[in-house]
Amino acid sequence: MPRGRAVVLDRPLGTFSIEEFPVPDPAPGTVLLSMELCGCCATDAHTYLGQWKNARFPALLGHENVGSVHALGAGGQRDYLGRELQPGDRVFARWGWCGQCYECRSLQQPRRCRNRTISYGGMSVDGPFSGGLAEYLYLSAPATTFGADVVVDIDRVRKPEERTRAVLAETPGGLGADLVFGCVGLAPAWLEGISYVRDGGRFMELGLASDTGDVSFNPSTQLVARNITLMGTLGLESYQDAVVAGRIMEQRQLPLERLVSHQLPLERVGDAIQALNSNFTVDGRTAIKIAIAPNGTVG
Ligand SMILES: [Zn+2]
Ligand SMILES: [Zn+2]
Repeated sequence: MPRGRAVVLDRPLGTFSIEEFPVPDPAPGTVLLSMELCGCCATDAHTYLGQWKNARFPALLGHENVGSVHALGAGGQRDYLGRELQPGDRVFARWGWCGQCYECRSLQQPRRCRNRTISYGGMSVDGPFSGGLAEYLYLSAPATTFGADVVVDIDRVRKPEERTRAVLAETPGGLGADLVFGCVGLAPAWLEGISYVRDGGRFMELGLASDTGDVSFNPSTQLVARNITLMGTLGLESYQDAVVAGRIMEQRQLPLERLVSHQLPLERVGDAIQALNSNFTVDGRTAIKIAIAPNGTVG
């Protein structure tokens, strides 16, 4: 049986090592991908620190996955839009769902499926190739120069109050922003983000997937008195979102490839995670988005 390489993290704050596993023959209804790129997510960095409570060690990390179909189980498989998959098709993988339970059918939130058939990234090594930091990814149920007008540099504007003043000064009437996205992934930044919102505005937190501790928050003065709407999201709720995102990417009007500042081999997963947990620098260059390219750099 052929073997393939995968990066294994033995325990929180442990060691990344490359191990070989037998490459599975895809069972009926399953798909084996040859990995192209796997994004290094802050969730991977938090998993390294032991802050992602769902992780099972020794763990195979990597959930931001793009690969091409290497082999299909008997009977073939379809993507989220019902198209028959062919060898060589490029796909991105989401978690598998049952399509039958309350969450899937009534709530239309397959992300929360109670019978989730497979998850990726942070699973134990018992399931072969369940993380994208590997040459292969085994799927049991596949689904498939923009920029800022104003930048406030956190290296130069060091104090939260000064950053808040700088943000408000850029909004109409100095009232604050209609909508603020929290992407930092640290609890204190959540409070700072809310201070950027205008009264009556909305705050969407999407970076705090991992538990980085408590903050003190006054629900009267910071929420009710300001008539603010708070929202939290743990990634895609509906796979329809992924379809829309795919369409936007396929139009190629946004130079999204420039977001990937580094493509690194499997041997350098440890460097990538260390950068995300420290100064966001790899090989002397700022890391915007690090992707692991298990089978060689992707053009
Ligand atoms: Zn992620
Ligand atoms: Zn379900």
